Amino acid sequence: MSFCCGAGMLGSFGTVRHYKTLVHNVPVMYCPVCNRLEVLPAIEGEFEILVEYAQGDNAPEVDFRDFVSIDNMPHLFDNCTMTDEGNYAEVLKQQIDIALDLMGVAKDLDDSDWRDQLKARLTKLSQRLRQYNKRKEISQRSA
Ligand SMILES: [Zn+2]
Repeated sequence: MSFCCGAGMLGSFGTVRHYKTLVHNVPVMYCPVCNRLEVLPAIEGEFEILVEYAQGDNAPEVDFRDFVSIDNMPHLFDNCTMTDEGNYAEVLKQQIDIALDLMGVAKDLDDSDWRDQLKARLTKLSQRLRQYNKRKEISQRSA
C-alpha cells in the first residue's frame, strides 16, 4: 500500500506531463489530499521508453494505451488503496469516511497531533469534493 499525507493513494489513469510532452491515459496513483501524482512503478519503464520516443519524435501528445497494453497487467493497481474507476466523488466520500473513523480513534487515544492532522485532511478532502461537484454542475449545465 502506498500512502501520502496519511491518506491512501488512489489508482487511476491520468495525463502526465514530461517536459514538453503530454502523455495521456498513464496508469498513475495520486493522493486525494494534496493531488500528488506518481506514475505507477509497475509501468515506469514503459513510460520512460514512451516519453523518450515521443521527445525524439517531437510529439507534443501521446496516448500511453496506444503503445502499451495493460490488459495483461491485472495486478497493476495492487499497491493502491483503491482505484477511482472514473468515480472520483465516490472515492473522495470513502476517504472522508475513513478519516472520520480515524478521528474517532484519535479522540479515544487522546492523540491531539493526530487529530489535527486528520482535521486538516478532512478539510482538504471536503474542499476537493465541493470543487469537483461544482465543476460537474458547470459541465452539466453547459452540455
Ligand atoms: Zn498527499
